[in-house]
Amino acid sequence: MKFEDFGLSTAIMQAIATKGYVTPTPIQSQAIPVAIRGEDLLGSAETGSGKTAAFAIPVLHNLTEKGNPAKGQGRRIRALVIAPTRELSSQILDSFYAYGANTPLKFAAIYGGVPQSGQERALRNGADVVIATPGRLMDLINQRIVDLGHIEILVLDEADRMLDMGFLPDIRKIMSYIPKARQTLFFSATMPRNVQVLADTLLNNPARINVEQPKGTADRIEQSVFMVSQKDKGSFLVSYLGSESFNSAIVFTRTRHGADKVVMRLRRAKIYAEAIHGDKSQSARQRTLDGFRNRQVNVLVATDIAARGIDVDHITHVVNFDLPREADTYVHRIGRTARAGAKGKAVSFCDSSERSLLRAIEKMVNKKLPVVQPKFEFVPEAAPEKSEAPMRSEPYRKVTPSRQVAAPRSSGSSGSAPGDYPRRGSKNKSQKTKYNKFKSSGGGGGNGGGHRSSGD
Ligand code: AMP
Repeated sequence: MKFEDFGLSTAIMQAIATKGYVTPTPIQSQAIPVAIRGEDLLGSAETGSGKTAAFAIPVLHNLTEKGNPAKGQGRRIRALVIAPTRELSSQILDSFYAYGANTPLKFAAIYGGVPQSGQERALRNGADVVIATPGRLMDLINQRIVDLGHIEILVLDEADRMLDMGFLPDIRKIMSYIPKARQTLFFSATMPRNVQVLADTLLNNPARINVEQPKGTADRIEQSVFMVSQKDKGSFLVSYLGSESFNSAIVFTRTRHGADKVVMRLRRAKIYAEAIHGDKSQSARQRTLDGFRNRQVNVLVATDIAARGIDVDHITHVVNFDLPREADTYVHRIGRTARAGAKGKAVSFCDSSERSLLRAIEKMVNKKLPVVQPKFEFVPEAAPEKSEAPMRSEPYRKVTPSRQVAAPRSSGSSGSAPGDYPRRGSKNKSQKTKYNKFKSSGGGGGNGGGHRSSGD
C-alpha cells in the first residue's frame, strides 16, 4: 500500500511528502482507507506505530472533502480528538498542523495546567478540529465555552490510558454533548474488558484493526532485571548508566517526589537529568521535553502519567527505577525504546518487596525476565541521600560537546552522540549550581495549548 493509493488531496499528499514519509505504516495502511470511507474504527496500536497520522489524515481528508456545512455562519468544531494527557494532546496538535498545513482548516488544543484564556480565544477564533484532555474539556463545556453539537468525527486516543486515569465519567458526560450521528475512531494500546465495553457503547459496527507492533517492538528490546534494594537504587542507577553507552534514557519512578530525588542523585554524579511530572508547570514540562528531544537532556526521569505519549525516537534505555503497580504499565514504559526499528534496553530495578509486581509483569509479557548480575562494580553509598543541594525549579545546564558521563565503558561507540553530555566536574553538591537555560528550539512543541493557525 502506498500513500498514493488512498486518493488523498494534493494538499495532504504534499504535507506527507514534507514530513518525509514514503510508505504508510501498517496501522496507516489498514486504518486510512476505512476511515476515509466514513466507517467507525477500533484500532489496537501503540504510540510509535504511526497511529496519529492514521487518524489525523482521514480526519483532514474527510473534513476538507465535505467542505464546511456551516459556511457563512462561522466555524464550528467538526472533529474532536480526546487524549489522556497534555503532552499527547500537544503532540497531536503538532501532527494536525503538519499534515493539515496546506488545508484551510484550523486547529486548537485544550488541556489543563495552563490558563484557560488562550484556549478560549482559540475557540472563539474558530477551530475545525479540537484536541482535548477530558478534564479541561468538561470544564469548558460546563462554562458553555465549547459547543460539541456539530461534531462529525470523534477520535478517542489511548482509551485504555484514559480509563486508567479515571476519566470514564468525564468521557461519558462528554459523549452526551456529541451528536450520535458521527464517525468514531477509537484507539487503544490494550483492550481490557472496560475498554471493550466503552468501545461497544461508542462504536457502530466498527472495522477492527489490530497491529502486532507491540510484539514486534518487544522483540527488539533487551529486557532484564537487577535485584537492588530500594535504598541502593539511586547509586545503582548512577553505576548502571555509567557502564552503558547510552544515547538517551528514560527512568520511571512511581512518585513525583521519587522522580525529583533521582534527578538530584544523577546530577550529583554529573549526569544531566530532568524530571517530568504533574507538579511541573506545563511550560517547564514542555521545555524539558524539547531538551530531551534535542538531546540536551540526557536522562528524563518521569512518572507514568507524565510520560504518556512521549514520542522520542532516540531513547536507547528504559529504566524501571520502581516497578509499576499495573503490569500493563510495564509494556507502555518499555515501548518508549526500540522506536523506528532501533534496538533498546529495558532494565528493572527490583527490590525484594517488589517481587510480586515482577511476577505480574512476567505473566503479562508471558515470559520470565532474566535476573542478571551487574557487569560493573557497584559500591552502595554509605550515607543516605540527604545532603543533596536543593534543586532549582527548572535548571538547564549548558551542554559541552564530546564529554562523557561517569566512566562509560565504550566511549564514543555507536549510539552515543557527542554533545549529549554536560560539562563535568565543575561543581559539587554543596555549591550553588549555576545552570544556563537553553533556548528551546522553536516550532515543535506546543505552547500552552492555544490556537496556532498555520503560519502563526
Ligand atoms: P505515532 O505513533 O503517531 O506517535 O508516530 C510515531 C512516529 O512515526 C512519529 O515520529 C511520526 O512522525 C512517525 N511516522 C508516522 N507515520 C510515518 C510514516 N508513514 N513513515 C515514517 N514515519 C512515520
